[in-house]
Amino acid sequence: MEDGAARNVAPVHPRPGPTPKAARERRVGCRAMQEILQAIRSGASGDDLAALSIPESYRAAFVRRDETGMWDGVESTDKDPRKSLHVDEVATPDLAPDEVYLAVMASAINFNTVWTSIFEPLPTFGFLDRLGRESVWGARHARDTHVVGSDASGVVLRVGSAVRNWKPGDKVTVHCNHVDDQDPTAHDDSMLATNQRIWGFETNFGGLADLSVVKANQLMPKPAHLTWEESACNALCNSTAYRMIVSSHAGAMKQGDAVLIWGASGGIGGYATQYVLNGGGTPVGVVSSPERAELLRGLGCEHVIDRREAGYKFWADENTQDEKEWRRLGKDVRALIGRDPEIVFEHPGRSTMGASVFVAARGGKVVTCAATSGYLIEYDNRHLWMKLKSIVSSHFANYREAWAANRLISEGKIQPLLSRVHPLTEVGDAALAVHRNEAEGKVGVLCLAPEEGLGIDDAEFREQVGEDRITLFRRHGS
Ligand code: NDP
Repeated sequence: MEDGAARNVAPVHPRPGPTPKAARERRVGCRAMQEILQAIRSGASGDDLAALSIPESYRAAFVRRDETGMWDGVESTDKDPRKSLHVDEVATPDLAPDEVYLAVMASAINFNTVWTSIFEPLPTFGFLDRLGRESVWGARHARDTHVVGSDASGVVLRVGSAVRNWKPGDKVTVHCNHVDDQDPTAHDDSMLATNQRIWGFETNFGGLADLSVVKANQLMPKPAHLTWEESACNALCNSTAYRMIVSSHAGAMKQGDAVLIWGASGGIGGYATQYVLNGGGTPVGVVSSPERAELLRGLGCEHVIDRREAGYKFWADENTQDEKEWRRLGKDVRALIGRDPEIVFEHPGRSTMGASVFVAARGGKVVTCAATSGYLIEYDNRHLWMKLKSIVSSHFANYREAWAANRLISEGKIQPLLSRVHPLTEVGDAALAVHRNEAEGKVGVLCLAPEEGLGIDDAEFREQVGEDRITLFRRHGS
C-alpha cells in the first residue's frame, strides 16, 4: 500500500465468521507475509524488501469493542485474557508520511496488554476514539478492533515520505512513546507532550502482530548480538527503569545510593536492579519466592527480601494500614544494609505505598510509575514532610532515554530478561501468566520469527558478553 488518505477500515474478519472476501484476503495476507519472512531470512537487500508488496491484511492479536462488557461484575483476578485476546487477520492501515511499515519478528507481553485484555481500569477503545478525533491520520486508529502490544523487534519494510533516518532492511527495536512532534509541548521532555501516548495501548496497530505501523521516532537499532525475541522484550520495561533510576527526570541515582526495589525479578524491577548495580548503587530486591530470590542473586543482587516468607501485612484490613508492619520492613532493610534506602522503586501501589514512603531515607525519593494493586493509595504524610522525602512520578521514557537504554543493551551492559517464549497464537496464555504473576522478567512472543534463537548477527560479541548472562532468566523459566 502506498501513502494515501487515511481510511477508517472495518476489520477484515467481522463476526460471526469470515466472509469469502475476508477468507481470500486472509490467504493473500498469509502468502505475502511468508514472502516477506523468506526474504528477511535469506538476507534480502533493503531494495528487495522495499519491492515486496505490503499485504492488505495481517495477523494480529486484538481485543474487540463489542466484548468490552464481557466481564461486568467479575473480579479482576478471574478475568482470563485468553477469552478476550483474539488472533486473526486485520486490515492493513495506510502509512502516514512519518511512519514505517515494520515486519514484526517478535514482541513481548507488558502489563498494559493485561490491562487492555481485562478492560481495566477502562476499555482502551476510548483512547483510540480520542486519537481518532485528532487528525486524518489519527482517524485510522479508531476501529472496532484494538491491536495490542508495546514492544517489537523487526525489519523496516517501507518508509513514509517524511522518514529520513531509516530505510527498508534496517533491523530495529521499537520503543512505545508515541508523540506528535508538531506539538510544542513535545519539545522539552516528550513525556510531557499533551498528546503523548503509549503505542499499542493508547494507539492501535501494536506490536503483537506480524506487521505494524510505527512512527520513525520510535525506532532504535536492534542489538546485533541478541535474537529477535531477546531484542523485542526490552524496550518498554528497560526504558521505564532507566528513567526511574538513572534519568534526572526521576531517580537520578548517585553512586552509593541504596535502592529498595519492589518486584525485583519482574519486568521493570529486573532492569532496575541492573541499573542500580551498574551505577554503583546497592539494590535491596523484594520478591515473593525462594526461586525468585535465587534468580535475583544470579543477577548480582546480594540483598534480597522474600516478602511472602516475611509475611508483611501492611493493611490490617481493607481500610487500615499497620504502621508496625512498615517498621518491620524498615528493620529488615536496615538489617541487610545498615541504613534506609535513598530511593524506593515503587509500582505495586495501594498494597505497598504506605510502607514505601515510610522506609525511604530522610530526604529520599519514592519513584512511582504504576499501581498494580490499586491506584487509590494511602500513606502517612507526616513521614513524608517531616523527613523531607519526595514522591516522584515517572512514566515510560522520552526518545533520548529509550535510546540510551537500548544502547546499554547493545553494549552488553544490560541483559535482556526473557524468561518464557510463546507463539503469537498463544498470546492469551502469555498474558495470563503475567496477569497471575507467574512469570519472571519478560514473556516473549514470536510473531513472524518461526522459532527461537534466530536473528543473531554478532555471535562473537554475544560470546564476549556471555551466554550465561544473556540467558539467565530464560534458563530459569524453561
Ligand atoms: P511484572 O508482573 O513483570 O512484575 C511486577 C512484580 O511486582 C511482580 O514480579 C511481583 O513480584 C511484584 N508485585 C506484584 N504485586 C505486588 C504486590 N501487591 N506487592 C508487592 N509486590 C508485588 O510487571 P512489570 O514489572 O512489567 O510492571 C509492573 C507495573 O508497572 C504494572 O502495573 C505495569 O503496568 C507498570 N508499568 C508502568 C510503566 C510506565 O511507563 N508507567 C511501564 C512498565 C510497567 P513478587 O511477587 O516476586 O514480589
